[in-house]
Amino acid sequence: MSRFMGARYSMFDAYTPGEQPQDRRYIKLNTNESPYPPSPKVRQALNADEVEALRLYPDPECGALRASMAAQLGLDENQLLCGNGSDELLSFAFMAWGSRGAAFADVTYGLYRVLADLHQVKVTNVPLRDGFALDDRDYLGLNRLIVIANPNAPTGRILCLDEIETILKTNPKNLVVIDEAYIDFGGESAMGLIGGYDNLLVVCTYSKSRSMAGARLGFAMGAKAVIDDLVKIKYATNPYNVNALTAAAGLAALHEPGYYRENCRQIQETRRWTTEALTDLGFRVVPSATNVIFVTTDRIGGSELYQGLKQRKILIRHFDIPAIRQYNRITIGTRRQMELLVETIDRMLGDADDGAGPGIAASPDGEEQL
Ligand SMILES: *Cc1c(COP(=O)(O)O)cnc(C)c1O
Repeated sequence: MSRFMGARYSMFDAYTPGEQPQDRRYIKLNTNESPYPPSPKVRQALNADEVEALRLYPDPECGALRASMAAQLGLDENQLLCGNGSDELLSFAFMAWGSRGAAFADVTYGLYRVLADLHQVKVTNVPLRDGFALDDRDYLGLNRLIVIANPNAPTGRILCLDEIETILKTNPKNLVVIDEAYIDFGGESAMGLIGGYDNLLVVCTYSKSRSMAGARLGFAMGAKAVIDDLVKIKYATNPYNVNALTAAAGLAALHEPGYYRENCRQIQETRRWTTEALTDLGFRVVPSATNVIFVTTDRIGGSELYQGLKQRKILIRHFDIPAIRQYNRITIGTRRQMELLVETIDRMLGDADDGAGPGIAASPDGEEQL
C-alpha cells in the first residue's frame, strides 16, 4: 500500500475471489460457474459487426436487452436495470438504501459485508438457525435494509415465497433485497411479488445458470421508483456499466431459454447423484436448491479435504471461518467431473484411513474468506 491511500480504505478488508487458475489443469468446482458453455446464439452474436461497433460507447440504457428481458419476464422496462454483474447492483443497493444500516445472515455471500464496510453501512448479523436454515421470523420489522441470498450461499438453503412476503409486509419502511443468483436451480422467484410491494428488489445474474460469469451481467427488478434510485447511482458511478459485447451476448441468450432450462435440469440431476454418492462415503450434505452443495464429514478436516483435492487438481471452496471451517462448498459440474471428484475423495480417504495418505496435511496456504 502506498502512503497516499485514504485512511478510510487503508484498514479495509476487501473481498477475496475464489481461485481462478489460468492453466486449465484443474477440475474447477470452486466458484459456482456453469460447466456448460453459453447457448449457440451467444457465440453467433459475438461477431465481426460487434467488434466493429466497439468504436462507440455502448447504449447506457441497455435498451434492446432490457426491452427483450422485460417482455420475457412480464415487467415494464422501467422496472429493470442491468449491471456489471449482480455484484455491482448489490453495491448500488447498499449505497442507495443503507443509511439506517443493513441486516443479513451471519453465514451468507461474503461480498455483503465488504459492500457494507465500503459504503459505511452498519451491519446487523442475523444468525442462521439449526442446519443453516433461514427463518423469516428473524427478519420481521428490522427497519433497515435487508439482504437475503435466496437460495442462500454457500449453504444452498431456501425460503419459500410466503416467508418472503411476511418479511416484506413487516418491513414497509425499508428495502428488502432478494439476491436470486441461484434461483433457477430449485426455488421460486420473488419476481412475481414486485407488483404488490414497493419495498422489494430482486437481483439476478447471468453468471450461474446462464453460463456467462465471464461477461459480467446482472439485472435488478423492482417497482419503478426503486429502480430509479439505482439508476441515479449508476449514472453517478459508471454510466456505461454494461459493455456492448456483454449486452449483445445477454440479448442472444434470451432467445434460447430451453437450452438453459435443460442445463439446470441436468445440474439438478447431477446434484442428486453427487449428494447420494458423498452420503455413501460418510458425508453430511446440506439440502441444496442451488448448483452447489455444502458438505462435511468426520472422516477428514474441512481444510485437509480442500488441500488434498487441490493437490489432486480438483478445486473446491473452503472458508476459514469458525462456524463453517469443517465444511466445504462444492460446485456441481458435469456428471463426469463429479464422478472423478467422488472417486478421488474415496481414494484419498482410503489412503488416510491406512495412515498412508500422501501429503494431505493441512497447510495455511490457500485459505480464503467467505
Ligand atoms: C455468484 C453470486 C453473485 C455474483 O454474481 P455476479 O453477477 O457474477 O456478480 C451474487 N450473489 C450471490 C449470492 C452469488 O453467489
